[in-house]
Amino acid sequence: MIPVTTLRDKKVALFGLGGSGFATARALILGGADVTAWDDNPDSVTKAAAEGIHTADLRTIDWNAQLLFVLSPGVPLTHPKPHWTVDLARAAGVDIVGDVELFVRERRAHAPDAPFIAITGTNGKSTTTALIAHILKSSGRDTQLGGNIGTAVLTLEPPKAGRFYVVECSSYQIDLAPTLNPSAGILLNLTPDHLDRHGTMQHYADIKERLVAGSDVAIVGVDDSFSEMIADRIERAGGKVTRISRRHALADGIYAEGTKLVQASAGAAIPIADLDGIQTLRGSHNAQNAAAAVAACVAVGVSEDEIRAGLASFPGLKHRMQPVGRRGNVLFVNDSKATNADAAAPALSSYDRIYWIAGGLPKAGGITTLSRFFPRIAKAYLIGEAAAEFAATLGEAVPYEISGTLGQAVAHAADDAEKDENGPLAVMLSPACASFDQYKNFEVRGDAFVSHVAALDEITMLIGSATGEK
Ligand code: ADP
Repeated sequence: MIPVTTLRDKKVALFGLGGSGFATARALILGGADVTAWDDNPDSVTKAAAEGIHTADLRTIDWNAQLLFVLSPGVPLTHPKPHWTVDLARAAGVDIVGDVELFVRERRAHAPDAPFIAITGTNGKSTTTALIAHILKSSGRDTQLGGNIGTAVLTLEPPKAGRFYVVECSSYQIDLAPTLNPSAGILLNLTPDHLDRHGTMQHYADIKERLVAGSDVAIVGVDDSFSEMIADRIERAGGKVTRISRRHALADGIYAEGTKLVQASAGAAIPIADLDGIQTLRGSHNAQNAAAAVAACVAVGVSEDEIRAGLASFPGLKHRMQPVGRRGNVLFVNDSKATNADAAAPALSSYDRIYWIAGGLPKAGGITTLSRFFPRIAKAYLIGEAAAEFAATLGEAVPYEISGTLGQAVAHAADDAEKDENGPLAVMLSPACASFDQYKNFEVRGDAFVSHVAALDEITMLIGSATGEK
């Protein structure tokens, strides 16, 4: 836990008592702030009060007496419309911040040189964050991993010299962190997403830009036009920029050439790492993630040998294209996080011959957008409510069976793959569906897949019981 010492004896209002909000309230209290907390959910308020957190309806407090208003990133600041607490804070002229801002202030106050890497982007944030933390940890550095990836940032160990922070930031968290100043900031990519919460693409891009604009080194994936403009703008303003591309060579920056990552500067282009054979970093999307991770590690002083060793031993993130077992020629891959067709596309593009387990609770559009990958699918094993609809889409293009359950699907796919001599092969759960018809959530579905794989004869599992980092 990081005590928030910068607000000692100050009055602070806080809204949102979910996981990170609750942790933030405790960190503020530990640091000596006078906190008044509230939530629209009465159960959360009761729970907080039972833990000794002072609670009061924020409609009834004296806003003029508050130095700061701390808002949970899940609560709307702007779109579709500001939460009622935001209106009250603004009317009283009280600054609004989130937990990442409180962390940033603590670091500045106590250990401004503690290396701090912040990661954002539309896709690949968690993978890149986990990869950087893994490289740092495996090189023996004191490493703290948190933020949007799951561990609330204020629950980490307090900042001190030589301690490395790797923090995933959603746009909501950036929006609530006005003085965010990482040593290295990463903007991976920008595509339309969450526009319901940000209004326009431009507004969404402006928020993401703030993370890299405030960084000592701005690491920017320049394969989309919004990010490319951001990199140019930061450079024109005098900032230090490392460009990343998964698509083309760069005069200056780190780019992917097949599986090779090449570092270019001052007219020289030197291979810095090769992702060939690293199962957890397959696919060109992961080349983008890995190149950004390499740039960040270089920026905070990690040696190339340490970086290469960390890349090679990356265990991957649970449920995201995670290789979980192997039998002969056949790799078993858990991509349970792919809860819609778009999310399944990178996994399907990363293996040449796939025994594909798909289905669950279907999303609008089904799997029609995945037809370009159908030639890679040796056979599909359809489960859950989506089975009939997906079967109709596959039609004559792909052999399939309606397996019904995940257990049947794994057993049949494993048997069929075993007989296939056109390896290498992947038996992959990449369902392109929500899980709720058969499972509590995608994590439980992924864990069930792993259990079914582990029960196969003569399987070599590639993961321990702790199956990943997220
Ligand atoms: P996020 O944390 O941004 O949601 P993750 O690292 O959890 O991203 O990856 C989620 C999914 O997004 C992956 O399973 C993969 O399908 C896709 N993905 C990962 N990295 C990228 C990338 N750089 N570009 C596009 N898609 C990606």
